[in-house]
Amino acid sequence: MDSCIFCRIVSGEAPAQVVYEDDELFAFEDRHPAAPVHILIIPRRHIVNLAEATPDDAALLGRMAVLAGEIARRQGIAESGFRLVTNSGRHGGQSVFHLHWHLLGGRHLGWPPG
Ligand code: AMP
Repeated sequence: MDSCIFCRIVSGEAPAQVVYEDDELFAFEDRHPAAPVHILIIPRRHIVNLAEATPDDAALLGRMAVLAGEIARRQGIAESGFRLVTNSGRHGGQSVFHLHWHLLGGRHLGWPPG
């Protein structure tokens, strides 16, 4: 999708601080970090959000979860703890409509979220 900023990051048309990439997944630093570690994990393929994901996406979503743990270990926040969040739709607070998981850590994170 030409108009999708995350598709443009994946294709190299838009800049990003890339943390990880392979043939299916991509991870980069959030440009407005909400915690000392704030990384976005996305599929290369444009999926709007979890509400649009299908059973065919199950393996991909599983890989995203495993990658989150791997990146947390590499970033040194696995032991102190972290949070994996996906915002979906208007009430979920989604602002970029390309599925992404926020990996947040490096400070104590409050609960419940606002
Ligand atoms: P959400 O509001 O859950 O859809 O999250 C979108 C996230 O993408 C926000 O935390 C933004 O700061 C981040 N973001 C938007 N555009 C960019 C960009 N070009 N590079 C890095 N992060 C971005």
